[in-house]
Amino acid sequence: MKRIAVLTSGGDCSGMNAAIRAVVRSGLSNNLEVIGIQKGYQGLIDQQYELLTTKSVSGKLQVGGTFLQSARCLKMFEEPGRRQAVKTLQEMGAEGLVVIGGDGSHRGAYELQKRGVPVIAIPASIDNDIPFTDMSLGVDTALNNILHAVDCLKDTASSHDRTFVVETMGRDCGYLALVSGIACGAEYALIPESAYDIDEVSKHLLQRFQEGRDNSIIMVAEGAGKAQDIADQIKDRIGFETRIMVLGHYQRGGSPSSFDRLLAARFGVTAVEALLQDTSGKMLGIGCGAIIQTDLEKVIAGGRRKIDATLLKLAATLGI
Ligand code: ADP
Repeated sequence: MKRIAVLTSGGDCSGMNAAIRAVVRSGLSNNLEVIGIQKGYQGLIDQQYELLTTKSVSGKLQVGGTFLQSARCLKMFEEPGRRQAVKTLQEMGAEGLVVIGGDGSHRGAYELQKRGVPVIAIPASIDNDIPFTDMSLGVDTALNNILHAVDCLKDTASSHDRTFVVETMGRDCGYLALVSGIACGAEYALIPESAYDIDEVSKHLLQRFQEGRDNSIIMVAEGAGKAQDIADQIKDRIGFETRIMVLGHYQRGGSPSSFDRLLAARFGVTAVEALLQDTSGKMLGIGCGAIIQTDLEKVIAGGRRKIDATLLKLAATLGI
């Protein structure tokens, strides 16, 4: 094997640059050339790529996002696009491909693998909804971003007797809201995985107020409701002037945490080693501290990763 390619696809997250760097440095250590494809599958179809060197990845480790850029590419959903992607890889002489992205990107990787491309996928998504890995790249940094924002809010909430509803990302997965709720000491974490009753929430807030605890933080996952709707419903029921903060894309960016940097390094190096060992069609993951490999076909069939029941129990025990 002489040459491999790497791309980042789908929703960006912090740690993608660190993973590209690990692929490049590990490739070079193994006498491989590494081609960086720009804008995910779109760049593969449009033949936008460049040879990456240690200089290309210098100074990128600590920077969020992806310097190769990411994109959503509709052409990959159809046969001509998939065929063109394979053709580009053949023309550039790439004998393997590392795809860094979320579940949609893994579906694209699986399609390429079925057409004969040796592929290794790295799970990268702040939602932590990818199965067969305890953590995806970018989750830990997103959680730290949320905690930083909520800690700042708590300062002002306590100074003015305010209730804040904080909306996190995560699509149908409540992981970010639940874990940040536990870690920041929120009063509630409203998530799609557990039914909640806004009357009960409001009653509890009123009770806290009557006991002299005047400020509260309510985390809400985007899949469980809109922060503004929840704030309006609380105001309608108990009259509290409730403020909101929608964290949005702020969660995705920023310098990766030490956990994500190390995970990116381990994923990137393992991806190259796997390709060198003629392994293909696998997604890497982390389980019980070890890097594991699961067939892409199984990952795709696995649906969305469910929240660990022990986390739900932990939150309930802590009164969240
Ligand atoms: P993420 O990877 O973050 O889940 P998306 O779901 O938007 O993000 O997927 C990223 C890209 O992966 C899509 O724009 C498309 O190019 C490719 N992709 C997604 N699903 C498929 C599929 N079934 N077949 C081929 N390519 C796909």
